[in-house]
Amino acid sequence: MAYQNAHQNAHQNAHQNAHQKAIAFARENGLFNQLEGIYAQVPHCDGCIGCKTCCAESVDTTYIEFLYVLNCYYPDYQDLLSLPDDMQKRLLKFTLFELSIPQKCPFLNEDGCCEVYEARPLACRVYGTMSRSDYEANYRAVIRQNLHLGQMLQKEKGFMPHRALMMRKIPFCEHVSVTTQTTTAMRTAWQNELVNLDGKLYFESLMSMARLNGHLAGHFFIEDGILERLPEDLITSLRIGILEALQNQYNDPALQINNGE
Ligand code: SF4
Ligand code: SF4
Repeated sequence: MAYQNAHQNAHQNAHQNAHQKAIAFARENGLFNQLEGIYAQVPHCDGCIGCKTCCAESVDTTYIEFLYVLNCYYPDYQDLLSLPDDMQKRLLKFTLFELSIPQKCPFLNEDGCCEVYEARPLACRVYGTMSRSDYEANYRAVIRQNLHLGQMLQKEKGFMPHRALMMRKIPFCEHVSVTTQTTTAMRTAWQNELVNLDGKLYFESLMSMARLNGHLAGHFFIEDGILERLPEDLITSLRIGILEALQNQYNDPALQINNGE
């Protein structure tokens, strides 16, 4: 038992420091500067009326972008438990409920402001810079991926997310304007540069393959054992909430919004 405890502690410490090591490497090797260089190329949109529609879900992000958020906004981060209470709960709730109820991005606060605006990921920056046809084509691809994920979950876990969630779509923004629309080639080039930065972390053994396709909220929960270290009552209440949400999902009008059908 003593060996097991020592082993568990060493395992936890290794995970607690993993992001900090990656942040130190990114700082020392100019990776954050390169990331800022990519972000600086994205044209700025004007005309946002702050309706919050586009922040109605989590966003895909690379690991370097996740580290940049931590570095800018949570410099003392060691693991989930060192985040402010409110952020811990928002991230945890978002992750546990992600496939059962529609939720806004965990970084959108009660005042309708982005809590990580200066470090927001590429996906948030390019929203509003695309032509309508590009935007619609992109969403068709996202929905295809969601349906594929749903089939995999059903096959491997016996759980099928509600169709309205898989078909969910953030509408094209009619309010913002941009001097130069981004093209698929531009966005692909930026995304490739981000993946290259992730590659540098990967080859330094600072990120795992599992993180290559993670997302902003999910990154906080990939650390092994994190759920076991959270307060039992919080986990229990969230799990009960998930069950209730699943039981009620077919009668929940909120599930019918933005379903893209
Ligand atoms: S960019 Fe458009 S959809 Fe997003 S908050 Fe502004 S007005 Fe709303
Ligand atoms: S990170 Fe910020 S800008 Fe991006 S979806 Fe979340 S709240 Fe909106």
